Amino acid sequence: MAETLEFKAELKQLLHLITHSLYSDREIFLRELISNASDAINKVRFDSLSNADKMEGNTDWKIKLTPDAEKNTLTISDNGVGMSRAEVIENLGTVAQSGTKAFLEAAKQAGKAAETPGLIGQFGVGFYSAFMVADTVTVVTRPLGSTPSDGTRWVSDGQGQYTLEATEKPGRGTDITLHLKDDAKEFLEPYHLRSLVRKFSDFLEFPVVMDSEKEVDGKKEVTEETLNSRKAIWLRKKNEVKPEEYAEFYKSLSHDSDPPAEVIHYAAEGKTEFRVLAFVPEKKPFAFDWQEPVAGLRLYVQRVLIMEQCEQVLPSYLRFVKGVVDSSDLPLNVSRELLQQNPLLDAIQKSVVKNVLDALAGLKN
Ligand code: ADP
Repeated sequence: MAETLEFKAELKQLLHLITHSLYSDREIFLRELISNASDAINKVRFDSLSNADKMEGNTDWKIKLTPDAEKNTLTISDNGVGMSRAEVIENLGTVAQSGTKAFLEAAKQAGKAAETPGLIGQFGVGFYSAFMVADTVTVVTRPLGSTPSDGTRWVSDGQGQYTLEATEKPGRGTDITLHLKDDAKEFLEPYHLRSLVRKFSDFLEFPVVMDSEKEVDGKKEVTEETLNSRKAIWLRKKNEVKPEEYAEFYKSLSHDSDPPAEVIHYAAEGKTEFRVLAFVPEKKPFAFDWQEPVAGLRLYVQRVLIMEQCEQVLPSYLRFVKGVVDSSDLPLNVSRELLQQNPLLDAIQKSVVKNVLDALAGLKN
């Protein structure tokens, strides 16, 4: 039996803004849903190192896109951490996420609905951006360490309510099915999906795949095609990365619509080894003055995301800098508490500060 629940007030307001803005960059919904899927995989992969027995043999990490022209749906599936029923209510029924809160705050300040579209592009509104292209969204999910009968189905038209019911789901993870609006049918086109994934999610390390039909000797064969190059840009040599590639990556980190003013990209070798790719924005970030002053770089250990915002490597006065640091000297299963006392992070901070200040001095000249 499906149960009907109300969205929290703030969320209703957000959904109203999203569904009523004629948003030209609405294609970012795909970026948002794919990056949620990637976060979900990162969470479970982190666990898989110590909890191999909970994995159900399901560790072929991938994000799958399934357009269905007959049903007029696009499904984004992952074999990530999934959600329990309580987590679905908490995560998809309330505005719990700081990004979304910041968005609402900014929309209030901007006042006019006309300015909302640009704000959606800057912040991304995560999962809810699905309602820019879909009139109904269905989420079927089940969490790590559960059985196929532990699935939950969430359905909403984004109008204020959603339904929840228990369901069977064979594999762990989440399937998000968008029933596309009449004017959003382009998101069923494989070539369009291919180009969007390359645009937004090319650096993701997990493959984003789609089935494609090929004719071989007069017979149709279905093969799985990987849509992203998966190259971690910071692992490449500086002279092999094009300015557009840097700009695209910067955009994915910052949601800034301008390219960066300065790219800081280097590998530190010697006693400790790490790589840094950081960006100085062209303009003062939109939310700079009124947002919590959190600074940090994304911390990876051998391409595995450890922390979205590692404050130990960037002092707060440099919080306008966005970027990543990747170190192979930290253990993969390092705990956050241990990280806080790790002298390697102090060494990284020293080096980052020096390089950023040098870059800023260079900009001044
Ligand atoms: P954000 O991604 O900024 O946290 P979202 O609104 O996009 O905000 O998502 C809200 C929350 O829902 C996420 O923080 C996450 O806990 C959960 N979530 C969304 N998509 C998935 C997914 N594919 N798998 C597991 N959890 C998810």
